[in-house]
Amino acid sequence: MASALLSHSGGAVTPKHAAASLFKFGSVVLGPFLILLALSLFGLCAFACFTSVGPTVAETFSLKWWSLAAVGLFILANVLFNYAACVCTPPGTPQWLLSGAAGNGGGAAAPTAASPLPACARCDFVKPARAHHDSVTGECVLRFDHMCPWMFNSIGHFNYKYFFLFLTWLWAICIYAVLLSWHAFFHNVYRKKSAYLVVEPSQWDSPELPELLSTADQFEGVLFPWVSRRQALRLSTLSFVLPMAAGFAVGGLLAWHMYLVLSNLTTVEWFIRMKQGSAASNAVNGTMANGNEYDFGWRTNWQLMFGMHDVPLAWLLPSLAPAPGNGVEYPTLRQPQLLSKQLHLWHKRYGTSVLAYMTGKPAAEPSNGDAGADDKPAGGSGRHRNKTQTRATSDVLGAVPLPAKAYSFTEAAQEDGFCRFGAPSVAFKRTRDLERTLDGLARKVRRLIKSA
Ligand SMILES: [Zn+2]
Repeated sequence: MASALLSHSGGAVTPKHAAASLFKFGSVVLGPFLILLALSLFGLCAFACFTSVGPTVAETFSLKWWSLAAVGLFILANVLFNYAACVCTPPGTPQWLLSGAAGNGGGAAAPTAASPLPACARCDFVKPARAHHDSVTGECVLRFDHMCPWMFNSIGHFNYKYFFLFLTWLWAICIYAVLLSWHAFFHNVYRKKSAYLVVEPSQWDSPELPELLSTADQFEGVLFPWVSRRQALRLSTLSFVLPMAAGFAVGGLLAWHMYLVLSNLTTVEWFIRMKQGSAASNAVNGTMANGNEYDFGWRTNWQLMFGMHDVPLAWLLPSLAPAPGNGVEYPTLRQPQLLSKQLHLWHKRYGTSVLAYMTGKPAAEPSNGDAGADDKPAGGSGRHRNKTQTRATSDVLGAVPLPAKAYSFTEAAQEDGFCRFGAPSVAFKRTRDLERTLDGLARKVRRLIKSA
């Protein structure tokens, strides 16, 4: 029944088919609920820390309390920023690259005989290097990593940075919450001298009553009087157990993606390599390090994701600057000249100033000559900027055989914020995905009812 419901019209139902449909349906429909669930869990833990854990660590509103709260809120702000940025930033697709969706002319560009890039067998569109087909959205995604139901988005070239930083800050806040609530938790659970002790009636005559009461009185400093001690006991247990469990899961995922970033691989590429076997991969790529033609060593691989910064650790800051490169062309060990061009272009724009990195507004135009005119904010001079940018990028990527339209669009994407935080197409696209899936499901149900 379930598999019949989820099968494609007409075709035979295989378990693989049904599983793929189920995954697609789950990813699209669960997305908004998972986002709400994640935000609720953040809120609940933050509430628990303020009302129930804080008072066991420092006197409420003391300097120590404010310092601890400030650190916690700073980490939380970074978690929420990167979460929102990852949800609201399109990963980038060839369809967007070539369809002129940013308004710079032209309809969809299907691959032609002259097109130098291979076509995707499933969406029949040009498929640049490192792009892979995402079966949930039905489009290829630039430097596709995976479809993340928690983000309600595919993770690719333009939003992987946010995904990685989200994991980093999420892990940090788990560690922080565990350290803060460590004492309260063990005090509560093992010593039974609860910080929020409610004295049982049988203990009223106990000679230890004064001691019990004084233990309880030490923790009167609960911030909100409407949180009872029993609730505070539960909340402080929650703010230890939940971050502890999440910390292990997130820590594992973070270590995995740390490995991927440092070796310049995506999850998809790693699986393909495993499938092929490293021997076959080495045979294909000759003498290349580990058979991975994108691997320039961990330091450079890191810079290819987060850029070259003059300020150490600036990459940890909340930022709207895109990752280096345009999502279409990637430097390889065979074509290393692209490497320094991409990195230096990025460094000129965002690496010299923390403000430029955080706001995503280039500090200096890479093109020489009319830099003054390009310093004006986007808007009236937008067309002019795009033209200048197109020229600059053609210089940078000159050797690459791609249609000029792809370049101009990539530049427009970066300049006009098309593949940036809050691009207008995202909400629309996700809503369309949801509508399509629900429509399809309704059709199948109707057909099933008819045939029954
Ligand atoms: Zn495709």
